[in-house]
Amino acid sequence: MTDSARSARFLIVGPQGSGKGTQGVLVAEAFGVPQVSTGDIFRANISGGTELGTIVKAIIEAGDLVPDELTSALVRDRLAEPDADCGFLLDGYPRNRGQVDDLEAFLGSRGESLDAVIELDVPREESISRISRRAVEQGRTDDTEEVIANRLAIYERETAPILDVYRAQGVVVRIDGVGSLAEVTARIFEALAARGIEPCEAVADGAVA
Ligand code: AMP
Repeated sequence: MTDSARSARFLIVGPQGSGKGTQGVLVAEAFGVPQVSTGDIFRANISGGTELGTIVKAIIEAGDLVPDELTSALVRDRLAEPDADCGFLLDGYPRNRGQVDDLEAFLGSRGESLDAVIELDVPREESISRISRRAVEQGRTDDTEEVIANRLAIYERETAPILDVYRAQGVVVRIDGVGSLAEVTARIFEALAARGIEPCEAVADGAVA
């Protein structure tokens, strides 16, 4: 495998119900990079009954944030795995300013930075109606009205402001998140292509085992 000048380091940001999980998986697949979702990692630990799962269970059930130290250490370990060498798609991390600083310090120490921060723009009412619909369809008892409201409030208060940091770096790609799944996916791919972001060479060449 040759050292590639290209990289595909992404972060996808949007409120719960914005479709960021689904879109994130599609982007990660297209660019041949791992999708790293802190929410998925925590949920896997809870269902697996691990020590980490025991620590974070009550926090997650309340819709609160797991402490930064714990979350950032988890992400650093994951991003240090070889499959994330040329890129990754982060979903759900960083979620506040402290985590942005942690991530910047980690990437900076490796001479890396994010190539694009995909902001999925979905109005509040649309997010709420999507989450409520999903809660009914999937019988998700964790998505009570109170927990949903708490998560959205945290998003607006702590997560949305992190976009200012990335706007200053000129890496934010704002996408209209209202529309069909395919429409939104097409908008994302078009915007990334317009920025000249392409899969890492090794992946594009099919050189990765
Ligand atoms: P998500 O699936 O991204 O909505 O995450 C589900 C829950 O996991 C959140 O409501 C938080 O309790 C926790 N969580 C996920 N990512 C983070 C993070 N970056 N920092 C703190 N807590 C997180």
